[in-house]
Amino acid sequence: MTRTGKLLAELIALPSVNPAFAPAAGASARQARLGRSRFGEKNVADFLMSVAARAGLEVEFQKILPGRSNLIARLLPQNKIRSTILLAPHLDTVNAEDSQFVPRMKNGRLHGRGACDTKGSVAAMLMALCELANSKFRPRETEIIFAGLVDEEHAQMGSRALAKSKFKADLAIVGEPTRLQVVTAHKGSLWLELETRGRAAHGATPQLGRNAVHEMARIVDVLETDYAAQLRRRKHKLLGPATVNVGAICGGTQPNIVPDRCSIQIDRRTLPGETEAGVQREIIALLRAEKLSAHISTRKLGPAPALETDPKLPLVQHFLRSIGQTKTVGVNYFCDAAVLSAAGIPSVVFGPGDIAQAHTADEWISLASLERGKNLLFRFLNSLP
Ligand SMILES: [Zn+2]
Repeated sequence: MTRTGKLLAELIALPSVNPAFAPAAGASARQARLGRSRFGEKNVADFLMSVAARAGLEVEFQKILPGRSNLIARLLPQNKIRSTILLAPHLDTVNAEDSQFVPRMKNGRLHGRGACDTKGSVAAMLMALCELANSKFRPRETEIIFAGLVDEEHAQMGSRALAKSKFKADLAIVGEPTRLQVVTAHKGSLWLELETRGRAAHGATPQLGRNAVHEMARIVDVLETDYAAQLRRRKHKLLGPATVNVGAICGGTQPNIVPDRCSIQIDRRTLPGETEAGVQREIIALLRAEKLSAHISTRKLGPAPALETDPKLPLVQHFLRSIGQTKTVGVNYFCDAAVLSAAGIPSVVFGPGDIAQAHTADEWISLASLERGKNLLFRFLNSLP
């Protein structure tokens, strides 16, 4: 196995499950104790810190939450810094069975939690930077920073804190499994809650009440048919149409009471330029046209806007050229790139592996893709002034 493959295997064996996926309170104390060590990014961050320090990079932790820190590793140029490139994969993963934290090689693939999402990118990016640090020819005016970010899979606290800390870069390459294509656009994600209010009454005299579940049933139908059709007509060149999904519903308590409340939760995937306020307005207007009404509120911990980076930016063009590509692509899923981009750092997404294997029970990455990813990143970084 190559050094990058070995590094990835070591990373898979150090679980760093986002604590948001920890068993809910009420799990037995023993379970909690057994489970605890697999949650949080600390083991992985400490390990990467020693790898980076051994390669001569300047390292520091940026504390985000108790026991959870971004790992920052810098390669400084000999001359004055004229530009900064940020390599930004996340360190956390979703949860998994115990067996998935034991890396397994089979037919040129490395299996295990995080293999493609996104420890593969972590290994490729850090290894490219370590090789560059040991290379005779390296950028003389470009600073390169590796930032291993916490909490991407939940609330993106790592990228949000980095963006807030006045950190600046001329280009961020956010690590996600893009099959080594350069992504300049992704959809945003809005979680909204809609609630209808009715009037409670005895189930034997429903005519005296107003049924909140019935009104919500009509709203669900409008959202899943009329609204969905309206969204399908609104297409982005790289992303296709925006979408809506009614993901949860809750209303009423028992058969003999007319329900006075019903709520749904919807996931609205947005296109660049769409705002939360705008989406709320168009939903309210659509319902009003159907003589329906609901209270609408947000369910997300932080804004999750869409990403749109101009593919013509000189550094994006330089990246494409040096890895032998001409076009950028769009993806459906939200990631840290939109957070960094919203803070004024032009961002693209790039990494080995395929999102189709992310979050699955049998996550894997092709070792050829991993090695190629490291080589492409090295080639780009090494070509910088
Ligand atoms: Zn990811």
